[in-house]
Amino acid sequence: MNTMELLKDKLKETGFKITPQRRAIVEILIKNTDKHLSSEEIYDLVRVDCPEIGLATVYRTMQLLDDVGVISKLNLDDGCIRYEICLDKEDSHNHHHLICKNCSKIIEVKEDLLDSIERQIQETYKFEIMDHDLKFYGLCEDCSK
Ligand SMILES: [Zn+2]
Ligand SMILES: [Zn+2]
Ligand SMILES: [Zn+2]
Repeated sequence: MNTMELLKDKLKETGFKITPQRRAIVEILIKNTDKHLSSEEIYDLVRVDCPEIGLATVYRTMQLLDDVGVISKLNLDDGCIRYEICLDKEDSHNHHHLICKNCSKIIEVKEDLLDSIERQIQETYKFEIMDHDLKFYGLCEDCSK
């Protein structure tokens, strides 16, 4: 199954109705999986094929997608929330983000890498870790040359 089908299944399960405008938003998200777009950026991209859409619809749809648990939010403390599709929220931990201080590029670290730290926290603090949100700030390969 591709992402669109998986997502449609998941949305159907939760009773989320796919209107043409919502579908256009979801398609933009799928096409830009690793771009971490903000609502405003999504709006600009959706408007190309769907000129009648309003920014409020984009905000509302992102809220709904977040409520049903198919997207995750990324907050880079720059005043805008970015989104990415995240279909297996329950059984996988969030990936990590590397953020370039110079060009603002966001690079994904797909591996969890935290297994031994998580085990240690779990043992020491008797704390059951469900997820984490880890950001590393620095210079990307191009900017550090
Ligand atoms: Zn983890
Ligand atoms: Zn850079
Ligand atoms: Zn990401």
